[in-house]
Amino acid sequence: MTTPLRTNLSANLSANLSANLSANLSVLTLPAFKDNYLWLIHDGSNAAIVDPGDAAPVKAALAAHKLRLTAILLTHHHADHIGGVPGLLQEWDVPVFGPRNDGIALVTHPLGDGEQIDVPGLDLSLDVLDVPGHTLGHIAYVRRIPGRDSGANWLFCGDTLFGAGCGRLFEGTPQQMMASLGKFTALPDDTLVYCAHEYTLSNLRFAQAVEPGNAALDARVLADGMKREAGQPTIPSTVGLERATNPFLRHGQARIVQSLVEAGRLAPGAAPVDAFAALREWKNTF
Ligand SMILES: [Zn+2]
Repeated sequence: MTTPLRTNLSANLSANLSANLSANLSVLTLPAFKDNYLWLIHDGSNAAIVDPGDAAPVKAALAAHKLRLTAILLTHHHADHIGGVPGLLQEWDVPVFGPRNDGIALVTHPLGDGEQIDVPGLDLSLDVLDVPGHTLGHIAYVRRIPGRDSGANWLFCGDTLFGAGCGRLFEGTPQQMMASLGKFTALPDDTLVYCAHEYTLSNLRFAQAVEPGNAALDARVLADGMKREAGQPTIPSTVGLERATNPFLRHGQARIVQSLVEAGRLAPGAAPVDAFAALREWKNTF
């Protein structure tokens, strides 16, 4: 169903712009505000921006790399994810994809769970997941290439999953957030996780406090610490690394449950959702 659309679009753009749509796609990291990352997906000619909280760094990157903006992708309604949309639309007349149920008036192409989009201007198909928790209407985008796991899978998860952490529950319940994160852990281990904030080192300090003795976690602390010292982002991480080190994906682990019980935050034998909720509460004040 989706191939003909993409083929037609490619033919048109190739004719009009000499764009090489078969070229490999790249993702540029655009830092914004204090610790946000905006993700610019491009093929050398056309580009789509994920969660442009600020228009200025996007415009600067488009100019520096001589790219044409062809689409805007939003994950949820918070200002640091959508604030740059009006400024970009002044310069670029492009579709705005975003959640159907998160109250964003700027969205021209509303999306929900199970839908797939062909991103205009790029040889890029994305699956949409509903991931309520941080906000009720929050969505995530997954690039999945059939039969090619390695290096092919990208997850744009907004403020749902972070490096070694997860988003705060501003609107949803622990049960909802658990289910949302479960959709991510079902993705291939080598899926690259493009989350929207650089919170990793702070999250890792909490992770070590609740799961001492996790060797993969200790290794990540060293590796990500070196990246930050060198001024590099720790993002993207991978689903496999998060599964091995992120306490919010590991709340059923005996050592984490023990930490929660010892801290007086969980009754022995409590349900997994109670452990998840207690973990999230603890992190809020850690
Ligand atoms: Zn947010």
